[in-house]
Amino acid sequence: MYLGRIVELAPKAALFAAPRHPYTQLLLASEPRPVPEARDRPPVPPSELPSPLDPPSGCAFRTRCPFADARCATELPVLRQVAGTAVACHHAELIPLHSQSQFQVRHVRN
Ligand code: SF4
Repeated sequence: MYLGRIVELAPKAALFAAPRHPYTQLLLASEPRPVPEARDRPPVPPSELPSPLDPPSGCAFRTRCPFADARCATELPVLRQVAGTAVACHHAELIPLHSQSQFQVRHVRN
């Protein structure tokens, strides 16, 4: 869930093996690791959580998403099936799996 909306629904194994929503990928990339040298994921850059009282238009995750485009600012993504996962993202088919490294890139707000 992100700002009160479900963004991804999948069986546990599938979710952890191949998260499709950028927020799910961010969450998994944020997982603490006891031994930093053993991390297989890049660090997550800081970003601000929007106010749930005044969420961004369109996709509420767009201000933190490295894949956001103009459509994301105007159209609310709904849950839909993508390869066996229900995901609320306009571009779920185009987002690379295991793309935690995308979060090294600071997103430019629309
Ligand atoms: S709909 Fe757009 S902003 Fe929202 S998660 Fe997908 S690509 Fe990112």
